[in-house]
Amino acid sequence: MTRKTGFTTSILHADRALPIEHGSLHKPLHLSVAYGYRDVRDLVAVFQGKAQGFVYGRQGNPTAAALEEKLTRMEQGVATACFSTGMAAIGAIMLALLREHDHVVSSAFLFGNTNSLFGTLRTHGTGVTFVDATELLEVEKALTPNTRLVFVETIANPRTQVADLARIGKLCTERGLIYVVDNTMTSPYLFRPKGVGASLVVNALTKYIGGHGNALGGSVTETGAFDWTRYPNIYDEYKGPKPALWGLTQIRKKGLRDWGATLSPEQAHHLAVGAETLALRMERACANAQAVAQFLAARREVRAVYYPGLPSHPQYRLASDLFSGYGALLSFELDPERECFDFLNRLESVVLSSNLGDNRTLAIPVAHTIFHEMGPQRRASMGIADSLIRVSVGIVDCADLIADFAQALSG
Ligand SMILES: *Cc1c(COP(=O)(O)O)cnc(C)c1O
Repeated sequence: MTRKTGFTTSILHADRALPIEHGSLHKPLHLSVAYGYRDVRDLVAVFQGKAQGFVYGRQGNPTAAALEEKLTRMEQGVATACFSTGMAAIGAIMLALLREHDHVVSSAFLFGNTNSLFGTLRTHGTGVTFVDATELLEVEKALTPNTRLVFVETIANPRTQVADLARIGKLCTERGLIYVVDNTMTSPYLFRPKGVGASLVVNALTKYIGGHGNALGGSVTETGAFDWTRYPNIYDEYKGPKPALWGLTQIRKKGLRDWGATLSPEQAHHLAVGAETLALRMERACANAQAVAQFLAARREVRAVYYPGLPSHPQYRLASDLFSGYGALLSFELDPERECFDFLNRLESVVLSSNLGDNRTLAIPVAHTIFHEMGPQRRASMGIADSLIRVSVGIVDCADLIADFAQALSG
């Protein structure tokens, strides 16, 4: 067969590509913690990584493995490891691949908890330099002989800056650096970081891939682009016959086996069911977000709107070149005369909540909540005004959404 199946078809049929119990259309929930073998040689082979299989639930389970297979297909990667949350996935990469005195260059425009995690890394002896990743030169200038890894998000949450993804990828390839792209905001439906040279792709499955706000999860996908034979921090034990898998093997061993950030079978099942409709939800949510952004931009009560789908956005051209959609997250500032909390309280169908990627539309005042802990200085460096409101646009009927913002603005 030469024809490539489409995005959604390939997710829907992933489970049945392997033998599946009773012809079940979904991969079943495997709740067992331990796995038994009739021949001890088989058990030993699995332990030694010489055969595929399961031994103990902390290191993975068949239901999560089926989700990993779907993610590998979505990202067109080599292999995927799932974790209990998106943060666990990012933490596992850092724990597994970095050592004392190593250095990381990260986009300054970061998910709040990733920013906090990088602060923790510093206290453990890893250098971290934050840069404006919309500027290639800033990334290049920050590199040191100890730099091992560059970390960026595709569309930054909440100010929607778009990193110069392709040129940073080229730089990382030239310098032999691990290039980690957090693809959460775009999801593999809008963007595949493999195409810009990413080594590892992170997805917070909690957000668009799960989509329903009913399960936490995260993943790391190996794209096959990085030459792990040249990376100094791989332990000899993990240098198996396929060098492309050395990095992910070490991430699994440290992040799952040693650190225990394992995705449970129930959560994996919820996320896998959600993933089936990723394309449909993204199309709808992106169209809604575009409509809301345009509506807000035209209102005199609104001072600024940040959405990569607006031609006024500084990276509009870049986003148009890179992504097949502009995402479903936007943020905006009200006119300084307007009371932000009163406005939020007037919203009726838009829910005041900190999540994003839910089917519902959620709004939150950023500086007072999710970006509160980092303080005013760091917020200012990320372009976050005190009055900034983040909106994660869902799949509700667009007219209802616009009507709700309109009544809250007029009130
Ligand atoms: C939410 C989020 C994460 C963390 O995911 P959790 O599942 O909440 O731990 C990481 N990166 C980005 C861009 C996110 O939006």
